[in-house]
Amino acid sequence: MEIIDGKAISKEIKEELKIAVQERKVKGKKIPHLAAVLVGADSASMTYVQNKVKACEEIGFESTLIHYDDSVAEDVLLAKVEALNTDRSIDGFIVQLPLPKHIDELKVTQAIDPLKDIDGFHPRNLGNMVVHLPGFLPATPAGILELIRRKNIVTEGKNCVIIGRSNIVGMPLSIMLGRNANPGNCTVTLAHSKTNNLSAIVRQADILIAAVGQPGFVTADMVKEGAVVIDVGTTRIEDPKTAKGWRLAGDVDFEKVAPKCTMITPVPGGVGPMTIASLMMNTLKAMELKGK
Ligand code: NAP
Repeated sequence: MEIIDGKAISKEIKEELKIAVQERKVKGKKIPHLAAVLVGADSASMTYVQNKVKACEEIGFESTLIHYDDSVAEDVLLAKVEALNTDRSIDGFIVQLPLPKHIDELKVTQAIDPLKDIDGFHPRNLGNMVVHLPGFLPATPAGILELIRRKNIVTEGKNCVIIGRSNIVGMPLSIMLGRNANPGNCTVTLAHSKTNNLSAIVRQADILIAAVGQPGFVTADMVKEGAVVIDVGTTRIEDPKTAKGWRLAGDVDFEKVAPKCTMITPVPGGVGPMTIASLMMNTLKAMELKGK
């Protein structure tokens, strides 16, 4: 059994991007510039955004953080999105989700210029993904694909079960792994809360991806001997033993499931760092797509 070190793979990618930035500098080309819009003071969202800005600093990208109070009006946010769309110095930007309830997330997502949509959430990018046209792939599924690629995990002909069908993880990942590509060519089952006989379906998985958001949801009896298990779940749970008073928990009962696997991702240190790396790759791609 191998524990996949997402942090190490992410570091490797950031090193490659750092070299790409240095080469651009030598050629007098523009340095990628990412902007992140954060609304409110949710501590998980703040950590995610801070980690993205930190990754930019490590690589040598420029970054701009725009922080609004959670009472910000929808039209103010939409005006900022439009300003970022037309700002030639910004190559790509994200609006960190979730947004407060009075703001229509879909409206905001659709307002982002698809050519700057480095999170890959715009319907045009999702559509391009379906028909295999160039565009931005959503950061977490793309990060998982990159992890599969770099660990040489064979996907062709494998049964892949994905639990969770969100627009940002499960649904795009099911399309990406079912495509005629490498990684890809899996026989994909996309399970959700209305799936019957979930345990029996999950036991068929050669590759199991859990994106539910419920700690310990996947138990050892649900996992086939020799499976590859990728745990996307990140839930903050109280833990008085830690300095922060909480820790991150995945969807998989790691201790009991790991011995049955050939490979498994831990939480933290698995998919999370890959999401950041993939966002950084998308930022560089944003410039390349525009021929900058
Ligand atoms: P989400 O929108 O929270 O939806 C959860 C999904 O799980 C839904 O599709 C839901 O089914 C399904 N589900 C809930 N209960 C279930 C059950 N009993 N059996 C089978 N399926 C069930 O999903 P998300 O945004 O993808 O987030 C999932 C987890 O991944 C969260 O912990 C989140 O924090 C984490 N995440 C991590 C990263 C990262 O970079 N590491 C990135 C994104 C998300 P229905 O559709 O039927 O409701």
